[in-house]
Amino acid sequence: MSEIVVMKFGGTSVADAERIKHAARRIVDKREVGYGVVAVLSARGKTTDELIAMAEEVSPHPDAREMDMLLSTGERISCALCAMAINDLGHRAISLTGSQAGIKTDTSHTKARIVEVRADRVRAALEQDHIVLVAGFQGVSTADDVTTLGRGGSDTTAVAVAAALGAAECEIYTDVPGVFSADPRIVPDARKLDLVSFEEMLEMAASGAGVLQLRSVEDARNHGVRIHCRSSFDDHPGTVVLSEGESMDHAERPLITAVTHSTSDSMVTLVGVRHEPGMAARIFEALAEANVNVDMIDQNVPTSAGGLAEISFTVPHEDLYRATQALQPLADEVFAGVSTRQEMGKVSIVGAGMRTHPGVAAKVFRVLNDEQINIEMISTSPIKISCVIARAEVERAVRALHGAFELSGEDTIAIEQPFRAASQ
Ligand code: ADP
Ligand code: ASP
Ligand code: MG
Repeated sequence: MSEIVVMKFGGTSVADAERIKHAARRIVDKREVGYGVVAVLSARGKTTDELIAMAEEVSPHPDAREMDMLLSTGERISCALCAMAINDLGHRAISLTGSQAGIKTDTSHTKARIVEVRADRVRAALEQDHIVLVAGFQGVSTADDVTTLGRGGSDTTAVAVAAALGAAECEIYTDVPGVFSADPRIVPDARKLDLVSFEEMLEMAASGAGVLQLRSVEDARNHGVRIHCRSSFDDHPGTVVLSEGESMDHAERPLITAVTHSTSDSMVTLVGVRHEPGMAARIFEALAEANVNVDMIDQNVPTSAGGLAEISFTVPHEDLYRATQALQPLADEVFAGVSTRQEMGKVSIVGAGMRTHPGVAAKVFRVLNDEQINIEMISTSPIKISCVIARAEVERAVRALHGAFELSGEDTIAIEQPFRAASQ
């Protein structure tokens, strides 16, 4: 069988009929140079947001299983339409739901994890010379229910399918020309990175660079899948995500690679926490049980014996309701009170070079201080520094840090799309 390429098209890239036909043409072009092609498509344009809004119109906290039934329809529409367009170009295409494509997941509805890809049906279709379209962002759980993989999950579908098929490359076609030194919608003179290491891309994705879903990068690294993130509007090369050693050969590593941000964080503070062994465990076990993704955690311990502690943590905004619900049974026994701040965000700088350079954190704090931006929480890894700040300050913080670390490129890029809200 010919070498296989997986091509993933994001929502903007299949937003209307013209774009679906354009994606169909690119897919066919790839087939015509001899590759076996599997295309993974996202829901069109803002479809997923619209479906979420529809659900919230009928139920303020929709049931997660039913939410997945609803959300999975968006990507199916894209695939069926694209298959029609490909058939009209004289090729044979077949569209498959995630379930039909053998994407098996765990049972955590709305943020399921792929546990296995049984790619027999996809392989058989390729052998029959079909172009295969797989609905992104979805699978079927071990309990036989439809699941979705979390926002941006089509990237992960694409990488998982590429790994299962031993594909030559996983191409992620999107609405920007690649991975940049900051979100180019916020920093217009951000620099496109030709190469980025898995290590840095993981930190970038984890700290909000929504151009690639975090799990897709994790899976690509674990299975040795090469990701090429590029524009669906032109043929220019984008950004290749490589293993450490490979990327070192090609590029001299800068101190800082990128400034990333997120605008979907909420902060929870528990006051009057009993300062005894096991209390923190109970709090975070309850949150884990409720499938809440906790990001940063900070604890202020009492100075006097028998005093009370204060614990703060951040969660994605969409998990806040579940977090407070999950903590309710512990009120009084474990902590005295809870307060929440919904409108939070996070700014981070990422760079493998900072490992060997002292003073980076000091510079970050100085820059934010000069902008009079209050830092609420800080977390670090050897190659990342993240600060939780008020959501309204995030864009200013990104621009200030990008400027201070001199990350700009020579040319500014023209973004083809009208400005969208910078939320992830
Ligand atoms: P798709 O629908 O193609 O999956 P996404 O909206 O999920 O597209 O991801 C692409 C968007 O990611 C870009 O439009 C850009 O605004 C945003 N983005 C955030 N950080 C970065 C970054 N560092 N480099 C490139 N794009 C970024
Ligand atoms: N349609 C889903 C989303 O908007 C998945 C994806 O686009 O990757 O998050
Ligand atoms: Mg995406």
